[in-house]
Amino acid sequence: MSDSLQDQRDSAVVAVPDGAVPGRHRVVIIGSGFGGLFSARALADADVDVTLISSTTHHLFQPLLYQVATGILSEGLIAPATREVLAKQGNVEVVFGHVREIDLAARTVVAEALSARTTYSFDSLIVAAGAGQSYFGHPEFARFAPGMKSIDDALELRGRIFGAFEMAEIAAASGREADLERLMTFVVVGAGATGVEMAGQIAELSKRTLRHDFRNIASKNARIVLLDAADQVLPAFGDHLGDKARKRLESMGVEVQLGAKVIDLDADGIEVEDPDGTRRRVEALCKVWAAGVQASELGRTLSEQSGAELDRAGRIHVQPDLTLPGYPNVYVVGDMITLDNLPGVAQVAIQGGRFAAKQIVRRLQGEATQEKFSYFDKGSMATISRFSAVASVGRLRFSGFVAWLMWLAVHLFYIIGFKSQIGTFFHWAVSFLGRQRGERTFTEQQIYARLAIDRLGSDFRPSADLGPAAPAATGAIDRPDDRSDPSDA
Ligand SMILES: Cc1cc2nc3c(=O)[nH]c(=O)nc-3n(C[C@H](O)[C@H](O)[C@H](O)COP(=O)(O)OP(=O)(O)OC[C@H]3O[C@@H](n4cnc5c(N)ncnc54)[C@H](O)[C@@H]3O)c2cc1C
Repeated sequence: MSDSLQDQRDSAVVAVPDGAVPGRHRVVIIGSGFGGLFSARALADADVDVTLISSTTHHLFQPLLYQVATGILSEGLIAPATREVLAKQGNVEVVFGHVREIDLAARTVVAEALSARTTYSFDSLIVAAGAGQSYFGHPEFARFAPGMKSIDDALELRGRIFGAFEMAEIAAASGREADLERLMTFVVVGAGATGVEMAGQIAELSKRTLRHDFRNIASKNARIVLLDAADQVLPAFGDHLGDKARKRLESMGVEVQLGAKVIDLDADGIEVEDPDGTRRRVEALCKVWAAGVQASELGRTLSEQSGAELDRAGRIHVQPDLTLPGYPNVYVVGDMITLDNLPGVAQVAIQGGRFAAKQIVRRLQGEATQEKFSYFDKGSMATISRFSAVASVGRLRFSGFVAWLMWLAVHLFYIIGFKSQIGTFFHWAVSFLGRQRGERTFTEQQIYARLAIDRLGSDFRPSADLGPAAPAATGAIDRPDDRSDPSDA
């Protein structure tokens, strides 16, 4: 790193949002996912200044990532700009930045964007930094089997899925029949909701969408394998719906392999161990990893400072009111937490974010805060194919077309913004009533960039190539901190 860039990185400043009211309670929110966005919105009428810091400039609707990966939806429809979503909420400042440090005692958060490194002070903090993919101790698997956690992941997978068919077409046209099996086999690891949805969509893609598009391959002959070390599909939905989902997938030609443990992965295939100890190999160019989560690294720093323990997935044990021990002004919500076996789903993050916001307002108004966060389970659903889904709502179980209609309605309702809702509805009509998919575009950069960046390691310095950003970025938002003791607020 050049000296001047290093200087900029070291010159951390305490930033206060431009429109902030001196003396007003400052809430910093980390993350623009479900927990972060919904907590910011819940503070709309509160007498507070909110700074929402996120490492992405969008709010991502993760449940529909698989539809971006399989060409049904564009990334813009499921990831509107957070700045736009919150534009009319005057008390929120949206900041792009990767939070690198949190100091609970000093009440500061340090965020980095390129070479700009900025410190934000808070009176209350809501941490909603979510979770990434876990490869169960084998991070090297990521190279060959991308996960499904971000827009980058979905676009890379789109490229890999459609790209595999392109490679198969070339092989078939040049008589390389021996390569066809590998090129036209798709393996999805993990038979939870994401894996089931991915496997179902790849099957529909090969059997419906691409049916007439190639001259040398029959896309319908693609082999789709869904495998999991567990002995059930969709374990969170119970035996009955799990069985229904498995049967539906099998009727679509998906090979469901349960009790199959992934031992190794490489560019050309995957090695699996069956329950009887037999090892076998599945040749497959395109592999999707839809198993396991690892909570944000920020959990570790929160744990070290508060003494709250982490579980094996890096989730932090929060107090019943979602705060950290000894820090009643610090809330952690969503996928980062472990509490009462709450599932890692959007509603836990949304309700947790709203709960945290409500407690902050109560405290400011001198009211007693609630001692316990209680989660209201609105049910869960997963699609398998067009016209087929499973849904579990309270004691009721639905499957098939009815569940699919419920799934459509719920997802359309929760997508952020009228523009995205209309666009999504239109794209669904094209894909589910017709056989087309409107978002098949992919580029080579989308497939190769992650691997190229990984290979460069510490030699890859985006700030060096894109130019220093620190003076402009920090200068614009720097203002002296006129607060004597933030805790007085
Ligand atoms: C493919 C997929 C499908 C899913 N399907 C469903 C479903 O059908 N139904 C359902 O209920 N749930 C589903 N989920 C789970 C649901 O999306 C999550 O439970 C939910 O997103 C958790 O919300 P969150 O706010 O905790 O984290 P996220 O939504 O992941 O948001 C985390 C935010 O933190 C930001 N961030 C992370 N680290 C930092 C940092 N260091 N500094 C600054 N910002 C940071 C990220 O950019 C992001 O904005 C699915 C998840 C995936 C991945």
